[in-house]
Amino acid sequence: MDCLFCKIVAGDIPSTKVYEDELVYAFRDIAPQAPTHILVIPKAHIASVAEVTPDNSHLVSRIFEVIPKIAEAEGLANGYRVVSNCGPDAGQTVGHLHFHILGGRELKLEMA
Ligand code: 5GP
Ligand code: ZN
Repeated sequence: MDCLFCKIVAGDIPSTKVYEDELVYAFRDIAPQAPTHILVIPKAHIASVAEVTPDNSHLVSRIFEVIPKIAEAEGLANGYRVVSNCGPDAGQTVGHLHFHILGGRELKLEMA
């Protein structure tokens, strides 16, 4: 499948790994928007939040178990933001479910 993040999981495209287990991979965003900017993804291809189902939601659960561990390891004791852009109106540019972890500075609240 022609998916950038599937290629990153496969190691065909290099990335800076932050965390990995049998279900989840996390790596540094190539264009960080905060001092810490990490992407957490399921190894299995899911296109977006819109494609989460009872069959694959355990992968999302695992991602949200992993996120606080990553945040702690990154020293984000003062807080962080978790974002998933879903679809064109949200500005999703890579069609493989991913959760941004943003932290290391005070983040402005941008709801739209
Ligand atoms: P989206 O815009 O879909 O929510 O987020 C996609 C993110 O993937 C962007 O923040 C972008 O900087 C990041 N990104 C795109 N291509 C690559 C890449 O090849 N490597 C890494 N590490 N990040 C990427
Ligand atoms: Zn994929």
